[in-house]
Amino acid sequence: MRLMHWIGGLPSPPASGGWIEVFEPGTGRAFARVADGNGEDVERAISAASVAWPAWSGLANSERARWLETLASAIEARLEDFARAEARDGGKPLALAREVEIPRAIANLRFYAHAATQFASESHHGQAGLNYTLRLPLGVVATISPWNLPLYLLTWKIAPALAAGNTVVAKPSEVTPLTATMLAELAAEIGFPPGVFNLVHGRGPEVGEPLVTDPRVRAVSFTGSTAVGRRIAGLAAPMLKKVSLELGGKNPTLVFADSDWRAQLDVLVRSAFQNSGQICLCGSRLLVERAVYDAFRDALVERAGALRLGDPLEDGTELGPLVSRQHFDKVMAGIARARDEGARVLCGGVALERPGWFVQPTVLEGLGPDCATNREELFGPVVTLQPFDNDGEALALANACDYGLSASVWTRDLARAHRMAAGLQVGMVWINTWLLRDLRTPFGGSGASGLGREGGLEAMRFFTEPRNVGLKLD
Ligand code: NAD
Repeated sequence: MRLMHWIGGLPSPPASGGWIEVFEPGTGRAFARVADGNGEDVERAISAASVAWPAWSGLANSERARWLETLASAIEARLEDFARAEARDGGKPLALAREVEIPRAIANLRFYAHAATQFASESHHGQAGLNYTLRLPLGVVATISPWNLPLYLLTWKIAPALAAGNTVVAKPSEVTPLTATMLAELAAEIGFPPGVFNLVHGRGPEVGEPLVTDPRVRAVSFTGSTAVGRRIAGLAAPMLKKVSLELGGKNPTLVFADSDWRAQLDVLVRSAFQNSGQICLCGSRLLVERAVYDAFRDALVERAGALRLGDPLEDGTELGPLVSRQHFDKVMAGIARARDEGARVLCGGVALERPGWFVQPTVLEGLGPDCATNREELFGPVVTLQPFDNDGEALALANACDYGLSASVWTRDLARAHRMAAGLQVGMVWINTWLLRDLRTPFGGSGASGLGREGGLEAMRFFTEPRNVGLKLD
């Protein structure tokens, strides 16, 4: 299988003539090749997007909405194909792709189809006359997305960008390029206006960087690691280019003794291990009030040990492999480092003896907040447990980290829940739940977790330029 760029509505081989092997994490074998893009491909894609922009931005909002709806329905009609592709390419359990991630990609397109027709701007009437604010599309924008939720995060970016009237050059992860390619193919099949949505495959420095630095690209929406986010911020800053950076996390889960943790154990286990911990919102630092610490630890370890780890394409699999050899090595090195730091491994800590990159769900205890294990993102099925004695200590432990993406708080005490939500230095807090998403709410983090917010009107504002018009009335 050869996965090409899609530029101007057509498949396009790489200018370099080179291809990158794409591996199936469940077997460890290469199953496809993806275009090894370079600046020449990027140049062509930006040109195609520039040519398409006047007509696309000039369409009625309802017309752009119709295109997004049509694309959503086309994916829906092929949901099973997309889910299988995602499971194969990224190693995620088929059920997760089928029931959550592909439906969410469809929902992203539908949500922003509505946004295209509902987005409004402000007006201010008063002593300074009448002021109204136009929200104008930017032009050509770039999206750069990671491998952990390939179609879900790609659509989360391109949908608002297109709804607001921009044209897009998207760079998906070279590790999981399959569903993005299927999307571009489908867009061409339904007659999506050529050049409005372009796809350039390849590696970060060769494709991502020329995209960020091309002056015709007016904004960059990036989701990925903090290190690459910093690099992109550094390239974009001298150009004063708009960037949105959704980066890593090291999210705390605060379990209080008065919570219904036993009844909610299913959700707590999912919050730790869903997609083998390869979700930026997974809670990897579990902070547990000492009165229930032992009981919680034992229950968690039992449930983690019982998770069915196996072939992502097989029904009943709850956890799949890690996405790549490189990521597997990183996670295994992280577990070895935790041992060196003095962690007790309560379960897991080892890989499965089979082809592919499977790591058993791992629960660690005995590490304090200063250990690298509790400070650095590992992005695997690995969590740590730390006890706390009171609210102040819980908050201090939760905030003892440079990341600030999300947190979950488990308690029946309403006042405490609100106090925690106000004190946690993160962009998103869930109370007695996890990853319950309303697409209208601001999504993103602070500190090392990024800059800016996606979601709802935040994304529509990011992808538009406000222009205020003031009118003297007397
Ligand atoms: P990554 O930063 O390695 O890669 C992300 C994307 O950036 C890929 O498409 C990659 O090719 C590209 N890239 C790499 N180097 C680049 C460069 N120099 N210039 C431009 N682009 C470049 O991240 P990853 O390993 O693919 O994804 C995992 C990371 O993503 C984790 O840190 C995770 O927390 C984060 N993530 C964050 C969110 C969020 O919403 N905050 C969501 C999902 C994943």
